[in-house]
Amino acid sequence: MPITPIEPSGTDGAATPDYQEVSTPVLVVGAGAAGVRTAIELAENGVKPLVIGKRAHGDAHTTWAAGGINAALGSLDPEDDWTIHAADTFREGHFVNDPDAVELVARNAPARILELDEWGAGFDRTDDGKINQRYFGAQSFRRTCFVGDRTGEAILSALVAHARELGVPYRDDVMITRLLSDGRRVHGAAGYDMDDGGFVLFESPRVVLAAGGYAALYNRHTSEADENTGDGPALACDAGANLLDAEFVQFHPTGMVAREEWDDDWDGQLVTEAVRGEGGRLYNARGERFMERYSPTRMELDARDVVARSIAREIREGRGTERGGVHLDISHRDRAFIEERLPRMYERFADLGVDIAEEPMEIAPTAHYSMGGVDVDPRTGRTSVDGLYAVGETSSGLHGANRLGGNSLAETVALGQLVGDHLAETIDEADPTLDGAESALPDGMRAAAEREFEALVALEGADGDTAPAELVAALGDLLWERAGLLRDAEGLEAGLGALDDLRGRLSDLRVEGGRTGRDFEFAVDLAFMFAVAEAILRSAAFRTESRGAHFRTDFPDEDDDWRVNVVLARGDDGMDLRTRPVGTPSEEVREALDEGYELDYHHLE
Ligand SMILES: Cc1cc2nc3c(=O)[nH]c(=O)nc-3n(C[C@H](O)[C@H](O)[C@H](O)COP(=O)(O)OP(=O)(O)OC[C@H]3O[C@@H](n4cnc5c(N)ncnc54)[C@H](O)[C@@H]3O)c2cc1C
Repeated sequence: MPITPIEPSGTDGAATPDYQEVSTPVLVVGAGAAGVRTAIELAENGVKPLVIGKRAHGDAHTTWAAGGINAALGSLDPEDDWTIHAADTFREGHFVNDPDAVELVARNAPARILELDEWGAGFDRTDDGKINQRYFGAQSFRRTCFVGDRTGEAILSALVAHARELGVPYRDDVMITRLLSDGRRVHGAAGYDMDDGGFVLFESPRVVLAAGGYAALYNRHTSEADENTGDGPALACDAGANLLDAEFVQFHPTGMVAREEWDDDWDGQLVTEAVRGEGGRLYNARGERFMERYSPTRMELDARDVVARSIAREIREGRGTERGGVHLDISHRDRAFIEERLPRMYERFADLGVDIAEEPMEIAPTAHYSMGGVDVDPRTGRTSVDGLYAVGETSSGLHGANRLGGNSLAETVALGQLVGDHLAETIDEADPTLDGAESALPDGMRAAAEREFEALVALEGADGDTAPAELVAALGDLLWERAGLLRDAEGLEAGLGALDDLRGRLSDLRVEGGRTGRDFEFAVDLAFMFAVAEAILRSAAFRTESRGAHFRTDFPDEDDDWRVNVVLARGDDGMDLRTRPVGTPSEEVREALDEGYELDYHHLE
């Protein structure tokens, strides 16, 4: 499935646009925690990669992560260890997680936390000076390390500062629009500078996609504006790599419900899980603490999919608020406690005129995270295309059918370090690209880049009637309605039909403001978004069971025969889907699973 469904027109005979050429031993596409941690490992092993991002350095989506990062440090609960962390991850992922990914992250996370702390992340401390840890949903012990409720920002600042100390080169505001691949090997990437509109051809025998997830395809989502638009999976799929489990999209139970007087952008934004971790309670409009009905033991701290569907059911059955939400209340805690443990939430709501120490917040589910993504070997980040790697939210495997809160930040640093290490090992000291010498671009690849630049010029000149933002919104509505919290065959089929209709409107785009404008960026994003939207709809229709975040009302039960992964590949006639068996957890982890550790909810009272 090509990612640029917008046909270039009117460029026949036109001169090839000018472009800059940049050569690097490793191109890291993405400057969130995953990309930067990969780059640090490379630099510490003598390889200087080039890191690029489509935003300013230090402003990746990672900065939005709030509540914390998991590692079995056992600061407060010494019984915790990596096997129990792995067991919790499998249980939450409904046993379709990649066992290698789970074990590597659970084993590697404690060392990565200590290192981040040394690099200046500044994790909160206990009175006796240990790294403090809080409860997060569906975890057996207090395992989530945090920096107030600005953990992602603190981690990324520490990583970026360390990368700078190591002299890792970085380019701000560059958007990759296509990888240069012959289907078997990647040779670099084509893109444009969003500040001056200039085209750039990156020559590199190794490209690491760390470009984030695809939750922002949904109209109600928690992502930073214009991030998480599926660029990584779409670029990888176009280059010939496979996607895995695209149907697994996490809907967070607690997204803000905007009041009329607030900016619409607030709708769907995350109310961190830390509110529930710190004792927040959910009430419907009748004042009932409704989780007693759905999960009497785990209550508000049950898995995200369980809590999200419980809230959705309360709303659907008429027990929601007038604006279509329920209440999340932390006001039984002291003001000082709330200010200290949830400073961002406290300030945000105070700015909007809501004192959360006195009154509840209004919330409803919202698209939050993509468990699916590029199919990789987690030990190395390798995809099925030589030279192409993926890491972080762009990739898939660790989380299975649902993500344990706090595990995605852990994944970025735990696997980022391994991917960087693997790459460094594969690069020979005599590699000519190490000192920035141009790599010999094989025949056809330069022509492919030039075709891409010509297509982008044509896109810039698109003069139809449809604003790109209009199509982005229509796609978001379509996915929310057809591939949201509750799905069925009929809706998914209708969704695919509607997607085709929308795709037809791509030929009628109108791009105003030139190559540095928002329209152009949205138009480029649309190519990624359509490819990934189709992958979600097709994979969700293919998996005829309910598992974790994927709930089919026509197949409401988990089916043992479906304890498999769904692999999606680009075929000659579109997307091909097949199943793949999942691996078995190691004996140590199986023992932890058999022990059946579980959070004692009453710890929190
Ligand atoms: C509101 C919110 C709160 C969260 N809280 C937590 C939490 O408490 N704990 C936890 O573990 N997880 C949390 N998460 C999830 C976590 O933030 C992400 O999964 C994680 O930060 C992903 O990091 P990443 O490095 O993989 O990607 P990102 O941080 O998304 O970075 C992607 C990078 O790729 C770049 N990029 C994308 N496309 C292109 C392109 N085409 N060309 C060039 N560059 C490109 C972007 O500019 C960016 O630099 C939260 C998520 C949200 C939305």
